[in-house]
Amino acid sequence: MSRILEQARETELDVQSIREQFPSLHQTVRGKPLVYLDNAASSQRPKVVADAVARYYAEYASNVHRGVHALAERATLAYENAREQVQRFLNASDAREIVFTRGTTEAINLVARSFAQPRLKPGDEILVSAMEHHSNIVPWQLVCEATGATLVVAPMDDRGEIQMDELEKRLSPKTRLVSVVWISNALGTVNPVEEIIRLAHDRGVPVLLDAAQAVPHRLVDVQALGCDFLAFSGHKAYAPGGIGVLYGRLDLLESMPPWQGGGDMILSVSFAGSTYNHPPHRFEAGTPNVEGTIGLGAALTWLRGLGLEKVERHEQQVLDLAVARLREISGVRLVGDARHRAGAISFAIDGAHAHDVGTVLDSEGVAVRAGHHCAQPVMAHFGVPATVRASFALYNTESEIDALERGIVKARDLFS
Ligand code: PMP
Repeated sequence: MSRILEQARETELDVQSIREQFPSLHQTVRGKPLVYLDNAASSQRPKVVADAVARYYAEYASNVHRGVHALAERATLAYENAREQVQRFLNASDAREIVFTRGTTEAINLVARSFAQPRLKPGDEILVSAMEHHSNIVPWQLVCEATGATLVVAPMDDRGEIQMDELEKRLSPKTRLVSVVWISNALGTVNPVEEIIRLAHDRGVPVLLDAAQAVPHRLVDVQALGCDFLAFSGHKAYAPGGIGVLYGRLDLLESMPPWQGGGDMILSVSFAGSTYNHPPHRFEAGTPNVEGTIGLGAALTWLRGLGLEKVERHEQQVLDLAVARLREISGVRLVGDARHRAGAISFAIDGAHAHDVGTVLDSEGVAVRAGHHCAQPVMAHFGVPATVRASFALYNTESEIDALERGIVKARDLFS
């Protein structure tokens, strides 16, 4: 092999060997080879993750933090090791800044209940964007109802980009927290989170990033970003379901009261009163999802080992190709057209309901999502009840875009 070819290989993701590591990708559905383009909902899982979870079941299934026996000790070590793996993945400065949750939703609810609610007074404001997932809207509505605070929304334009001048105008002396999505699950828009953090921090306002759609697709460095909180879910990042993470700056976590009571989150309990454990355990009441954390640690270590710059480059090529192909199909309209887009594209076919398009694609073996993607305000903005969404992962290939295109043309011809 020539030196130039060798160098090119080193900078490219070896997608074929990665696909070998995903047994579920090698199946036919509806008599066609599976083309899995529903990664923004949940990704497929590599064997290394299934093996890590299976080893826990086969060798040391046990509770953590409580047992004095060998299996419990091993489970506790694996659980805390997973926390360190997440810390390294996010480049957090301290493993105590990593709180295990059920997912992004629970992580945001934790911040809403434990950070925001005790600090909010009537008239205070929480600032979000118009392209949030419901899980970054409803928890804030709940705390606003409880405290008399107001939820303020930074609008987006018709490309599906946050209007930054409008966001800046809405950062007021009453703003207590900015909570924004890094990459939109409904549109694929990549938001300028560095700039949002800078604008908020200039005014002393902390920032939570919803990184559910960022973590699987790009290098995340919480110290470089300077965000105060960051939330993500395992199941979108090659890890098991039912596990996720809240990263929180240690000084902030230390200032926050518990939000759920139970075992493990206490230092002492008596009927006269209880004292609470330190972060992160203060926020992890009850038996945690031990196997989930072990799988999450394995997934993130594997993903990091592949090189996230390579992952991002490969996925961008696949997404750019999909966008270019869809633009060429008459009767197909992209919903959202952000200049920086990653992970997902949304589209509609004239005269066809999104669910019908999804069903035709499924009959071709192409798995996409049709619906409002838990982002009804985004659908309202674009005046559609639903879109079809194709979302990409590191194992998707350019030839899978051919299958997507064929399925879309078939649906278009059927319905229009
Ligand atoms: N935020 C975004 C941007 C998402 O895409 C999702 C999942 N679709 C969530 C939050 C919620 O994640 P989970 O359901 O795993 O808690």
